[in-house]
Amino acid sequence: MSATLHPAPGRAFAEPQRLADGLWLVGGPGLSGELDALAYLIPCGDGQAVLVDCGTNAPALLRNAATAGFAADAIVGVLATHGHLDHLAAAPALIDAGCGGVWLHEAEAAAVRTADPVATCAYLYGRPATPVPVAHELVGGGLLRFGTRTIEVVETPGHSPGSVSYLIDCGDTRVALLGDALWGGFHPRIGSDLDVWGDTLAHLQDLECDALSFGHGPPRLIAPYQEKVAYARSRFGFLCNPWDLPAGGADAWVPEGARPLPRLLA
Ligand SMILES: [Zn+2]
Repeated sequence: MSATLHPAPGRAFAEPQRLADGLWLVGGPGLSGELDALAYLIPCGDGQAVLVDCGTNAPALLRNAATAGFAADAIVGVLATHGHLDHLAAAPALIDAGCGGVWLHEAEAAAVRTADPVATCAYLYGRPATPVPVAHELVGGGLLRFGTRTIEVVETPGHSPGSVSYLIDCGDTRVALLGDALWGGFHPRIGSDLDVWGDTLAHLQDLECDALSFGHGPPRLIAPYQEKVAYARSRFGFLCNPWDLPAGGADAWVPEGARPLPRLLA
């Protein structure tokens, strides 16, 4: 299918939003592109910052980061929640503009470097994937330190094999940036695995966080964390990806026990 990734000419983008102390929303619908995943900017002290995901529209990301006070060369890294086009396609242009390199889980690094049209979900958008250089492969979870900021990496596979989430402290609020690990689309073709994903959701339920944001959610923090994750778990398998329905419709591939809602995102 073809899809409009950016607003029509003449439509203005909104300003970046400060979601919390030390957390900006700089990309997403209305900010960088209608099908872009949410992209975040995390100041790290010493005038530097990192991005979590970056959508598809590098000029818009850079303009929004500048509004938040960070030029391209102050952005020292792009931390990817996973390798899908709507989360990461702007990365090569950001790097060309002076941003730091991409961090991505090792399970998806090869597909992103080689612009695999399926594994990157480029085929869903009717456009070719662009190879994305991966400077740092994430292996397991752990802590990343940028300046004065510590970012916890949690492996959250299921939507895709290398999905990770990033946990940060914003003042006294611990925030989980979940990418598509919560409410993401499902299809075996892109490496989705419901059994693995179910384990991930159970793990997410155990995390001690206060608020969350996810890749295609509203442009604000969502709280309370435990309650919202519990709700998502209760609906697990209910939401399927309407862009990828095979001949025969949703019932042809919806996992046993799951109920399709094929028009929810249409
Ligand atoms: Zn995705």
